[in-house]
Amino acid sequence: VEELITPQVPIRYTQHLINGKFVDAASGKTFPTYDPRTGEVIAPVAEGDVEDINRAVTAARKAFDEGPWPKMTAYERSRILLRFADLVEKHSDELAALETWDNGKPHEQAAKVELPIFVRLFHYYAGWADKIHGLTVPADGNYHVQTLHEPIGVAGQIIPWNFPLLMFAWKVGPALACGNTIVLKTAEQTPLTALLAAKLFHEAGLPEGVLNVVSGYGPTAGAALASHMDVDKLAFTGSTDTGKIVLELAARSNLKPVTLELGGKSPFIVCEDADVDKAVELAHFALFFNQGQCCCAGSRTFVHERIYDEFLEKSKKRALKRVVGDPFKKGVEQGPQIDVEQFEKVLRYIRSGIESNATLECGGDRLGSKGFFVQPTVFSNVKDDMLIAKDEIFGPVQSILKFKDIDEVIRRANATRYGLAAGVFTKNVNTANTLMRALRAGTVWINCFDVFDAAIPFGGYKMSGIGREKGIYSLHNYLQVKAVVSPLHHPAW
Ligand code: NAD
Repeated sequence: VEELITPQVPIRYTQHLINGKFVDAASGKTFPTYDPRTGEVIAPVAEGDVEDINRAVTAARKAFDEGPWPKMTAYERSRILLRFADLVEKHSDELAALETWDNGKPHEQAAKVELPIFVRLFHYYAGWADKIHGLTVPADGNYHVQTLHEPIGVAGQIIPWNFPLLMFAWKVGPALACGNTIVLKTAEQTPLTALLAAKLFHEAGLPEGVLNVVSGYGPTAGAALASHMDVDKLAFTGSTDTGKIVLELAARSNLKPVTLELGGKSPFIVCEDADVDKAVELAHFALFFNQGQCCCAGSRTFVHERIYDEFLEKSKKRALKRVVGDPFKKGVEQGPQIDVEQFEKVLRYIRSGIESNATLECGGDRLGSKGFFVQPTVFSNVKDDMLIAKDEIFGPVQSILKFKDIDEVIRRANATRYGLAAGVFTKNVNTANTLMRALRAGTVWINCFDVFDAAIPFGGYKMSGIGREKGIYSLHNYLQVKAVVSPLHHPAW
């Protein structure tokens, strides 16, 4: 990769946003955020720790307990969400450039795919804000029974680095629509866009203290948030190992309810009747999208033996054609991995694939000598018990496995500790119906993949998580249900 484009975007915000103001870390410390194209520092950012989380939670608590946010009319809250979405559209060039600079994802993807989805998510949640209400319940006896759906309080939210803006939207959208206040801890690799987005929220009229953003590392700032006694709910997206840690921290502190969106090893099943060219393209997209850094990546490509050889040949050709380079350049499909740890981890898995006698069809090494670029890599002859078939690699490494019949592929596809997503490619509606019901995964995409509409719930079976985000289901994460019971005929005291 030679001659990188210099992003034309100012770094406006690097401090924490607490109680509506940008402030330094309590300790005065900063940490660097890096450009994954080069490994060079973009900017020093305020480094949050226990005291910063305490200050942010205090602000969120006050904004919740004293208002005005939870006490505003739902329509007023909806209007603020809509004004925010308008401001995001106005600043979408700046947000997309910053997202690519901090994360390394193709700029075209950030600008043309992710920013519009981000805006759509806030339109969607603005639409919900004034449509959240309880029920009247036909209980036995002479009672009038109703449920009130109340905001849960202060929400702690910890997000990862692979989709910094979209993860912000999945967390912040439903929490605000339901009238909660928030302390958001961004990933240490990608702190920049959430600070700008949160600033725009304040310009849109969000009262101070409602949305607080703290940057910093997981074991310090993240753990302080997960174990805080005054946080009423925790939402986390990231690795399964860290998910277990935050669940334990939540349990040991105040038993705050936790939603988790964790890792995956999703099967992508290509049946014998598939149009091979189309299946190759979709399977390629399912794995390589976003540098392979998707929790739902189709990372076990199961192909029916009858079309296996043709599929393999074409998949290899497609991977060799993948355009890897400076994500700011037009036409680039793949940028660098997020950081040196992920880069080295992906290369370790590639070595493990070679050592376990999978066949390396193409790729297999870094690209260039600078930054964290990895060649699009395809393995064939992958067996279920190989590490590359079991672990989440989170990189541009496709593993192709052969199968003979549907019962066998169902058994093998489900033989994993994960259950986030699955892809099915077939023209046969019976096969599609059989697979969609048999696969133990939170999403089954049939003849499509990575369709992420705001209304579609997303989440995992098994060790891929607890709960669902997006859609109507996401609202339940941020609401308490209060049952109110009173006699139909009140006694005269
Ligand atoms: P991670 O789970 O460690 O980080 C995710 C978030 O959790 C970050 O904000 C991080 O600061 C925070 N965190 C880390 N340790 C914490 C702790 N002890 N207490 C509270 N918060 C903590 O993920 P990672 O190290 O950035 O990536 C490791 C692997 O996680 C990846 O290789 C990939 O397999 C997986 N991952 C999954 C997703 C997803 O969308 N499900 C996203 C990113 C990474």
